[in-house]
Amino acid sequence: MRKPLIAGNWKMNGSAELVETFGRAFAEVELPSPVDVVIHPPFPYLDAARRAFANTPIGLGAQTLNPMLSGARTGEVSGQMLSEFGVEYVLVGHSERRQLYHESDEQVYQRVIAALDAGIKPILCVGETLEERDAGRSEEVVLRQVGYVMARLQSEQRRQMTLAYEPVWAIGTGRTATPEQAQQMMAAIRGYQADFDRALAETLRLLYGGSMSAGNAQALLAQQDIDGGLIGGASLKVDDFIAICQSAG
Ligand code: PEP
Repeated sequence: MRKPLIAGNWKMNGSAELVETFGRAFAEVELPSPVDVVIHPPFPYLDAARRAFANTPIGLGAQTLNPMLSGARTGEVSGQMLSEFGVEYVLVGHSERRQLYHESDEQVYQRVIAALDAGIKPILCVGETLEERDAGRSEEVVLRQVGYVMARLQSEQRRQMTLAYEPVWAIGTGRTATPEQAQQMMAAIRGYQADFDRALAETLRLLYGGSMSAGNAQALLAQQDIDGGLIGGASLKVDDFIAICQSAG
């Protein structure tokens, strides 16, 4: 039995006030017991979030990290720094990072290693563009992104991973993959893992991301191989995000 994980990616959004709003709301909310919740606010809010979420079920996540431990990397943040602030999860390979900051599979892998070395659990994001889907290459692209990282990890490291399948055409567009499309890809990812580590394939959490909302979460989360969600836009609205967390039970 895999425990669902609902992760909110605030991207470059939110405010100190929103952190407080989430802290207050989640201190009172009843969630189904088998669900992990994490919010990934922008770096400047991490410390306030750690305090505001202390008496709530919300865990702390970061949106990226630099692969180096320290040094001349202006504007960057290391895994060690994140773990000092109580960060438990970090997004790696988000499509916005791959596209806007040209992060390659190798750089994504380096970030995964840096996170693991700092004791932070990576959420590895993968997904195909609309062009790739239309060309019938979705599975090839996604399994390449998954395989590049997973095949280079040791089995203990693989057990710290969460994967998030986020079709790029569904992110922030309001256009969600159908539950069947999402399930089909999840089954392919799990099947790929099973080929070289059957035990891991059964425990590995697979999240869906791409315009998940309070309205469509239940149908997506009901799919056999979908173990949670990575949510952008709807994670900025506390009531919607709570509703999504509640549909994960
Ligand atoms: C995301 O950024 O990971 C995401 C899924 O965004 P949205 O929910 O807004 O599509």
